Amino acid sequence: MTKEKNKESKDVKQGCLFVISAPSGAGKTTLCSVLLERFDDIAYSVSHTTRKPRPGEKDEVDYFFISEETFTQGIDQGIWAEWAEVHDEYYGTSADFLESNISNGNDIILDIDVQGAEQILAKYPDVITIFIMPPSLDALRERLESRGTDSNDVIETRMKNAEKEMAKKSIYRHIIVNDRLEKAKEELIGIFEKYRK
Ligand code: 5GP
Repeated sequence: MTKEKNKESKDVKQGCLFVISAPSGAGKTTLCSVLLERFDDIAYSVSHTTRKPRPGEKDEVDYFFISEETFTQGIDQGIWAEWAEVHDEYYGTSADFLESNISNGNDIILDIDVQGAEQILAKYPDVITIFIMPPSLDALRERLESRGTDSNDVIETRMKNAEKEMAKKSIYRHIIVNDRLEKAKEELIGIFEKYRK
């Protein structure tokens, strides 16, 4: 490669990767939509999952809803940048989506759980990781119950999972406590502004 060419390829801006995790009910969906409205040039990684769509969720918008067979074939083919079993369902991020956006210089948000964040950290050590905490476990339970979308069993599974996830919060670079939505929004936007080139 000539010196000029080499310089050119070094100057190509690489996309910045952000991972956001939070226990279910901590307000992550609301906060992610705030980010996407504020920064309309960020690519949101739509995950693949084997879970069934909830009322109002759209295929290819909220998730790519796929069968367990397709998901596990994807594991064998190595098409997931990371994948995990969460609440007895599979969830995964497309490696192609990630790589093509990073090399095109697009910033990307991954909304994934702690197991996924650990895998992404191992592959992309520069990733900016953010954990959103509920103000307390009691407040989380209240939010899950008032949402009215999940049965008692599902709420209990989510609460157990939340405790496990919160125990791992120290792997994240930034922690935001969502006790007041406006404050959490500002903190999150501040983090994105700090890292985006
Ligand atoms: P939900 O079913 O409530 O939409 O999501 C359940 C959990 O799965 C959330 O913590 C969410 O962040 C996580 N999740 C969603 N997509 C992915 C993914 O692609 N990979 C991993 N590891 N977790 C995901």
